[in-house]
Parts: sequence; C-alpha cells; structure tokens
Amino acid sequence: MIKILLLEDNPTDARLTREMLLEQSADRFELVHVDRLSEALRRLRREPFHLILLDLSLSDAYGLDTLRQVQAKSPGVPILVLSGLNDEALALKAVQNGAQDYLVKGQTNGDLLARAIRYAIERKRVEERLTYLAQYDHLTGLANRSLFRDRLVLALARSKRKDQPVGLMFLDLDRFKTINDTLGHDIGDQLLKAVADRLKSCVRQVDAVARMGGDEFSIQLEAIPSERGLTILAQRILDAIAQPFVLDGHQVFVTVSIGITVYPDDDEDTNNLLKHADTAMYRAKQQGGNAYQFFTPEMQAAARERLVMEQALRKGLAENEFVLHYQPFFDLATRTVTGIEAIVRWLNPASGLTMPAHFIPIAEETGLMIPLGAWVLRTACAQAKAWQEAGFPSLRIAVNISDRQFRQRNVASSLSQILHDTGLDPHSLELELPESVFMLITDATTTTLNELKGLGVRLSLDDFGAGFSSLSNLKRFPLDTLKIDRSFVRDIPSDPSAAAFVSAIIAMAQSLKLTVIGEGVETDAQAAFLAAKGCHVIQGYLCSEPVPPEKVPRLLREGVCSVKWNGV
Ligand code: C2E
Ligand code: MG
Ligand code: MG
Repeated sequence: MIKILLLEDNPTDARLTREMLLEQSADRFELVHVDRLSEALRRLRREPFHLILLDLSLSDAYGLDTLRQVQAKSPGVPILVLSGLNDEALALKAVQNGAQDYLVKGQTNGDLLARAIRYAIERKRVEERLTYLAQYDHLTGLANRSLFRDRLVLALARSKRKDQPVGLMFLDLDRFKTINDTLGHDIGDQLLKAVADRLKSCVRQVDAVARMGGDEFSIQLEAIPSERGLTILAQRILDAIAQPFVLDGHQVFVTVSIGITVYPDDDEDTNNLLKHADTAMYRAKQQGGNAYQFFTPEMQAAARERLVMEQALRKGLAENEFVLHYQPFFDLATRTVTGIEAIVRWLNPASGLTMPAHFIPIAEETGLMIPLGAWVLRTACAQAKAWQEAGFPSLRIAVNISDRQFRQRNVASSLSQILHDTGLDPHSLELELPESVFMLITDATTTTLNELKGLGVRLSLDDFGAGFSSLSNLKRFPLDTLKIDRSFVRDIPSDPSAAAFVSAIIAMAQSLKLTVIGEGVETDAQAAFLAAKGCHVIQGYLCSEPVPPEKVPRLLREGVCSVKWNGV
C-alpha cells in the first residue's frame, strides 16, 4: 500500500486525481487529500507518507515556495509535482528544487500517474543512497570529511549566536600503517571499525564523530563546559583505545594521538581550525603518541618549519646535498680500528651542515628515508670497497637502517643488488638496526632478518637500552653485535644503576656470543669500566668524531686515538 498525500486546492482536480488512481487499483494506493499548505505541513509532521502529490498553485502559497516548504518539512519523502501549467522551465526548476518529477494535468492518465509515482519513489531511494555514499564513510558508517566539514560550519555559526565555544579534536592512530602492513588490510579494516565504535561510545552526540580518511578521525563538541571538559574526554578516549582489541583471534594493541583546538579562541575559520587540530595532533605524536595536545600558536610556527624542511629535504636529495661521515670502532685490546660506521650529514649551501637528528625523523615520516637510505647504503658500500682496494682489505663498514627502510618489502633484494653493483663482500657489511625493529615482531620481521642474514651481512642492534626490547627476547634473532646506547655509557662509572645495567648487558652479550660495542665513549674512565667488564670495542669522541671521508685513510693507517688508558 502506497500512502500518498495530495496537496490540491481545486476540488475538481483533486477528484480527477483520485479517480485516476482508483481506476488503477484501489488497494494499491491510499490517498489523503488536503487543500492548504499549512494543513499539509501539519499532516506531514504527524504521519508518514510514501509520496507527496503537489499542485504548485495554492491559496496560501505559490509555486516553488510551496515545494521548498514541503521539502524542508519532510526531506526524505519523494515529491511529484502536478501542475496545470505546461511550462518546461518551471518543470526543470521543480526538479532542481528537489521534486522527483513534474506532470501536467490533462496530459496524464491513470497509467502514467501510477508509473510516475513508482519511479519517483525509486528515484528518491537512489538519490538518498548516493547522498549517503557522498557523506558517510562506508567502512565505519561515520560521517566523512565532507559532511563533517559542513556540520562544523553549522556548529560554528550556532556557537557564534549563542556565544559558546566549540571544541575540535583530530585523532590519528599511532603506527596503524605497521599494523596494516603486517597483519593485513582485513584486520586493519576491522580495527578501524572497532576504533570508530569506541570513539562513538566516548562522546555524547554520536554524530559528532567522523572518519576523515585512513586512520584519521575527528570529533566536534558543541557547548563544551571548559578546557577541563575537553581534557577529561581526551583522556577517556586515550584509555578506551589503549584497551586491547581482539580481531580474528589476534590481540591488537593500538594507541592514538589527539590534537585539540577551540573555537573561537584559537581561530574563527573552519579550515584554520582543522589545520590547528592537525598540528596539535602532530605534536602529540612527536611526543611518542598515546597523548593529547592543545593547539598553541608556537606549534604553527613549528609546523611551517617542518613543511619548509620537508621541501628542502626533497630538493637536497635531488641535488645530491647529502654526504657521509665515518666514525671508527676502536678495539682497546689490539689498539686498532676494527670498522667504521657511516653516518649521514646534510650539507646545504644555505644552511650549512645539518645533523641527522634534525632531518631523519622528518625523512622517516615523509617516506624520503627510503630513497635517502638507499643512497646511504650504496655510497657506503662503494666507499668501503674503494678503501679495501686502496690498502685496507679487511675494513668493515657499518650502515644505519631505519625502521621504515627495514620494513620495506624488498629490502633484502635491493641490498643484494647494491652489494652486487659495488662488489663489496657481504661479510664486510654490518647493518645497524634500531630497537624498534625488535619491538614489533611479525612473520615479515623474522623473514627479513633471515633474508638479510642469508646474504652474509652482519646484523647489529643499535642504541640498545634506549627502547624496550627485552634481553631474553634477543636470543631469537640472528644478531652479531650489540651497541650499548650512549645514554648509559654517559653515566658510567659513577651512576650505580647505569653501571649495573651496562655490566648486565655485557655479560648477556657475551653469553649470547655477541660482539658488544660501547657507544659515545668520551672519557678514559668510561673506556676503563667497559673494558673491565669485558667490552673492549668502543666508539665515541674519545677515539674520534665522525669525520669526512678524506680523513678516513689516515685514521685507518695510524689507528686513532687519544685513548691514554692502556690497561686491557
Ligand atoms: P647512531 O647510529 O647511534 O650514531 C651515533 C651518533 O652518536 C652520531 O650522532 C654521533 O655523532 C654520536 N656520537 C658519537 N660519539 C659520540 C660521543 O662520544 N658523544 C656523544 N655525545 N655523541 C657521540 P649523529 O650523527 O647525530 O647521528 C644520530 C643518529 O642518526 C644515529 O645514531 C643514527 O641513529 C641516525 N643516523 C645517522 N646516519 C644515519 C643513516 O645514514 N641512516 C639512518 N637510518 N640513520 C642514521
Ligand atoms: Mg648507528
Ligand atoms: Mg647508536
């Protein structure tokens, strides 16, 4: 049964329409006739209709205005215009204003009318579906970026009238890409859905949450009580997301970074507010994630700097502005250089020499680390081969590999290509891997470690102790070398806990038959302590800073080193 509201002030026309429909089939249509717009609006408020049949000229309203008012009252109900005028332009306008079709009285019979009704209903359904698709994220069912933006504009306008602030949160999952790459997109999708559900359960107005794309979400909060209210909510979200997710039998841990901005305090413009929330989110991420940050104007300056840096990095890579410096490993027992580590520097004509701490994190984030890392590997291997041929045949070279670089799918085969091209013996190469590689162990991690090992290169764990990798865990991996992070070396021998930690690492490394290297050794006392515990390979300013390549042959020839202590 199709229930139709007929809005028609001419009684004869109304009777004709009713007869046409009844002649079709009385039990398919139920017709409710009203002759005034006001009455129509009242009925629409009270009961549901499948369709509205509308005459455009009424006693209390006229033309498109009638259509607009009816549409506004019940935007989900299809409208069929029945007009006495055969006016092509008006028909078009009616359809543009939301009517599904336009029929001219006197040119319509029961058949045509019944068909037009069915089509109008069907067309409306398709339209609604398309509107939904354009406004909602199909994976999570949340509003998408475009609907969120529209709603934000409205919320800001309302807030201006009521003089109430609006809070805006921008959320981004930490390390989602790694989860997606390692556990698969199916689990990734499930995780996004589950995160969306938890976010919805954290806020009062469910439609305030949106998915902005990828692993990014936004929340818009009207009538927030205070900054404190936002803080409490942000903390509640962090706690909710940090609970483990169980997806397809996997227990998945994920955290989120949240940026918060407040209208009108931070800005009055929608786009700027969205940018500010993003900037604040980035700051939270920089602090290690699982945190929230309110936007401050200083952040904006920092964000701009980062953008400038990214562009400069891109250009620097294209224009060959990177150079490698080399820092030796020195064996206290033999008083010889046992190898050198290649460390990248950025030499820009305008800004001079930049240290990796300033550009590696940005290179990592922007993906530039992949081409930069490949350049480093190739250059270091070619350079090592050249020095080997120039009289240092047993020279070993260590090269730093970033987390992103390591997780590239073809890392072993591209290294194999580089070794082949440069002619360097794999046994002369040691890859220094960050601890983060061992903090997210998946099948792919193990496969890559074994593939690299299979090429014949040595594997070293860099800056050990700075992260969280557990000592016992290390047994599982084909490692050759362990480098003790310089933050511990700095505090020996005077600081008891650093001393205890360093002693324990050395003992463990020895039991696992790993070479152990003390990083950042600056004093004789540090060298003496390390050697006494059984670690006699050291690296640090005590021996040599990282030096440009032209200084390396002399280092290799003469040994280093200002190490006076000679007690091994
Ligand atoms: P790292 O691999 O642990 O490199 C050693 C860092 O410690 C270098 O800093 C070096 O200058 C510094 N250092 C050496 N001896 C001493 C010392 O006695 N005292 C102190 N205070 N510091 C010392 P740098 O050049 O700033 O490099 C920082 C980090 O950047 C490196 O730490 C490494 O993780 C990363 N990095 C450098 N080059 C590359 C590269 O080519 N690829 C990748 N992925 N990362 C790199
Ligand atoms: Mg290193
Ligand atoms: Mg290191």
